[in-house]
Amino acid sequence: MSENKRLFKIVEIEINSRCNMACSYCPNSVDERVEQGDMEDKTFEKILDSLEASDFRGIVSFHFYNEPLLSKKLAPFAKLLKQRLPKVLLQIYSNGTLLTKKKFDELREAGVDAFNITKHEDVKPNYIFDKTYEELNEEERKRVIYNNYTQIDMSNRSGILEDIQNGAGEKTPCLLPSIMMSITLKGNILPCYEDFYQKLVMGNIHQNTLEEIWFGEKFSNFRQELRKPGGRLKNSPCDKCNCFNLPVFRYND
Ligand code: SF4
Ligand code: SF4
Repeated sequence: MSENKRLFKIVEIEINSRCNMACSYCPNSVDERVEQGDMEDKTFEKILDSLEASDFRGIVSFHFYNEPLLSKKLAPFAKLLKQRLPKVLLQIYSNGTLLTKKKFDELREAGVDAFNITKHEDVKPNYIFDKTYEELNEEERKRVIYNNYTQIDMSNRSGILEDIQNGAGEKTPCLLPSIMMSITLKGNILPCYEDFYQKLVMGNIHQNTLEEIWFGEKFSNFRQELRKPGGRLKNSPCDKCNCFNLPVFRYND
């Protein structure tokens, strides 16, 4: 199948805007998210309608610079997603500060398949997820990727954190828009998780389906350019971005 005909494999959904940390290597340390609050049910349902219509079987996470465990909608949204799209792999990215064993069990029950937990720079000595991890059995641990922030490949977050260098430059192709999309609180579709200021809006779920937006001229041309060496220079903030990683989404099953 030609690259232009391939559907997205990863969908990141911003179900809430807040984080309870402000790590120095995150845009949350310098500014606030563009959209504030919690995702409305009707926006989430619209996304599900669209994913269902596409028979989507890829990976979903509820993350875009937020801590999803701060949202009361996390478990209900997880449950709804897995009821309607049982073949999707639902992965939660979290800083682990609120992830007790009880919460872990509740989220597993709601349908969360995997957890990607990062222990960040400013965690307190009684950091909750250290204790939770001790309580997990072998099978449960297979569903957890547990990293210290020092193990993560950092980026400059589309130029917002200029001091973070990683060797990627303007000639490095970017494949993120070829495999994923991020959906903001209000249903704006972005081509990646680096676009903190939402400069690259490809469409909105309240106006078009995800497939229409993904295969539309704007998104298709954008991803084609980014696949070429030097393609980053054609757009802002790609021209300042040094991200070249693809998201981690497997669990150790
Ligand atoms: S915990 Fe994650 S989302 Fe929150 S400030 Fe740190 S890096 Fe950013
Ligand atoms: S170059 Fe950076 S900002 Fe542009 S699409 Fe790729 S990851 Fe996103």
